Amino acid sequence: MILTDTHTHLYSEAFDEDRSEAIERAMALGVQRFFIPAIDSTYTEAMCDLEKSFPNNIFLMMGLHPTHVKENYEAELQHVEEMLEQRKFYAVGEIGIDLFWDKTFLKEQQEAFRRQIRLAKKYKLPIVIHCRDAFDEVFKVLESEKDDDLYGIFHCFTGTLEQAKKALSYNMKLGIGGVVTFKNGKIDKFLAEIPLKHIVLETDSPYLAPVPYRGKRNESAYLMNVLEKLAEVYGESAEVVANMTTENSKQIFGI
Ligand SMILES: [Zn+2]
Repeated sequence: MILTDTHTHLYSEAFDEDRSEAIERAMALGVQRFFIPAIDSTYTEAMCDLEKSFPNNIFLMMGLHPTHVKENYEAELQHVEEMLEQRKFYAVGEIGIDLFWDKTFLKEQQEAFRRQIRLAKKYKLPIVIHCRDAFDEVFKVLESEKDDDLYGIFHCFTGTLEQAKKALSYNMKLGIGGVVTFKNGKIDKFLAEIPLKHIVLETDSPYLAPVPYRGKRNESAYLMNVLEKLAEVYGESAEVVANMTTENSKQIFGI
């Protein structure tokens, strides 16, 4: 059984004390593949160091996170572009729109999202979408960029069944994490209506730890709790869900 954490910020300062141990703990449980979303240029070096330490297990993405789209976003997009030109990445992410924290840079967020989608298409890469309080805004950009080269993952999906179906219509898989274990998380109620071939697993660590760790630091080993919950939702064995979601991740990332 090989599990894939399609979204984990293992380079985060939250892991400075025990990064290798956290990775070893996950690997001991079968979580062998870690896909690492970018945030902004200040983390690029830490991401590359992480890759050097675990070259067979760590797969990097490149992108500018919507909450980090600020006055300097042009320079940040330049960095994304230069990095994509320089070396292999497995996705452009995480990118998107976040109106939960701050609406000041909505226009710039939309612009950065669109330009990064075009970069992904240029390099034939999937996108990994971050969407918070911004489904309409995200769908609007996707609608105008929709074509055969647009595909990827709707990370930390927390919308309705209707929004889930809409995401699938843009060639997106749904990234499911700790929220599915929350009592008020809601998505567990309808997820079984979305075929498993559209689902990938993620932790989004160090954020959004699943029950029974809710509120604590999340780590990739806790992907097992997400797996168990999904097995219950779909009425399948954990092994079937693990294998299928890893296959789905291979289909998206090409590795
Ligand atoms: Zn993230």
